Amino acid sequence: MESQIKHIHLQLVSKQTTCTALVQEKLDLLKQNTHNTVNSLLDTTALDLAKKVDAKIANGEEIGLLEGIPFGIKDVYMVQGTYTTASSDLLKKYKSAYTATAIQKLLDAGAIPLVKENCDSFGHGSSSENTIFGAVKNANNPNLVSGGSSGGSAVNVAKDYTVFSIGGDTGGSVRQPAGYNNIYGLKPSYGRISRYGLMAYASSTDCVGPLAKSIEDIRIVLNIMSGKDVKDQTSYASQEIAEDSVTNSSTIKTIGYFKNFINSDAINDDVKTAFLSTIEKIKAKGIAVKELDFFEADTLVSTYYTLAMAETASNLSRLDGTNYGNRIEDKNLKETYAVTRSENFSEETKRRIVGGNQVLSQGFSDAIYLKGLALRDQISESFDKDFKEVDIILSPVTPASPPKIGDSLKDPLAMYLSDAYTVGFSLAQVPTLTIPKGTVTGLQISAAKKNDEKVLQFANFLNDIL
Ligand code: GLN
Repeated sequence: MESQIKHIHLQLVSKQTTCTALVQEKLDLLKQNTHNTVNSLLDTTALDLAKKVDAKIANGEEIGLLEGIPFGIKDVYMVQGTYTTASSDLLKKYKSAYTATAIQKLLDAGAIPLVKENCDSFGHGSSSENTIFGAVKNANNPNLVSGGSSGGSAVNVAKDYTVFSIGGDTGGSVRQPAGYNNIYGLKPSYGRISRYGLMAYASSTDCVGPLAKSIEDIRIVLNIMSGKDVKDQTSYASQEIAEDSVTNSSTIKTIGYFKNFINSDAINDDVKTAFLSTIEKIKAKGIAVKELDFFEADTLVSTYYTLAMAETASNLSRLDGTNYGNRIEDKNLKETYAVTRSENFSEETKRRIVGGNQVLSQGFSDAIYLKGLALRDQISESFDKDFKEVDIILSPVTPASPPKIGDSLKDPLAMYLSDAYTVGFSLAQVPTLTIPKGTVTGLQISAAKKNDEKVLQFANFLNDIL
């Protein structure tokens, strides 16, 4: 699919439509939709902004490419004055005091925010069922989950309710719902986009990530949001990725894939067959393909969940009903904290807080948390070694198709294991893009850290041959 952003931009400047009409149409679609994608609509702001864009066009003024383009925001981003609930009871009435850097850059470019989108509470989940706003239903089949945690964002894009959406990816939350709803979703290199104003889940892997219907739209939005931010010490300065550079993949000579991902018992036959047939098509184009050794799924998932739980337990400790959140009074301060947190956090979030505090506690942290950190280093080193030999690593996004709504809630361990293919790339902080091709839930394309451009180049190449 061609760039939606460019298409709409042309419609606006050639006066085939007005920005107000466009925004109103999307707001109506969002309001009527039965997929549970909406936590709150930003209708007044959106229509006010649309009027200003229309006035500029009527005056003959030039507008920027993103000016007037309607987008969605996962409900874990601060946008000043809007409800920012993280799909939780605890923050159900919390309003942001400031705006996240990534979102501010989009607003500065003139993009129009329509909606705060449903997701797993605090990013905890792989199905967007762990939310007080009702399970998000898959764009293609409402009996299936949308994936998660950025499920609302993926479905809004897939259904054309938003032109693009901004999700958050800690262990797969942009890539997996993109795969489940057959769109594009990018987890950029860690640090390329400032995390300031993205509610912290696991700070060492949290990434801001765009979801869209074309590689070109991912590129446009990525360029706007990227950059060093003094408010996030892990952010770095990067070069803009030019349009003509991503259509040229001639520097990519060798790719690799993880043997054990494909030979695992957990992979569905159709995903495996489709993946291997994609590999054959790539070889037929003269690109060398290497089989790579990697860590077993159990190791990846255990390492990720050990660190993610430890980090979320400490990040969420500030949500105690005093500094933030819906306070429930009890007989003394300690009880007030306890009741506030036990009544207002979901089961899944509490499981992670308890698990995280356990692995961080004296007597356990050496054996569990420090071991997790050591394994993360080994995983990163393994990627460093691989990327000396291959330009790109290709993998399926998930071992299977999206489950039915309700199934993941019955078995949290099975849900954690379903993240086997996404979490390794998060731990290594490398750029990884889901494209809606190659297997029923798409393919992931990864390159070495800071090589986001190469990922987009190979995505264009695959688009041409698949
Ligand atoms: N499913 C993974 C988890 O629950 C990833 C979630 C995310 O990236 N926010 O931790």
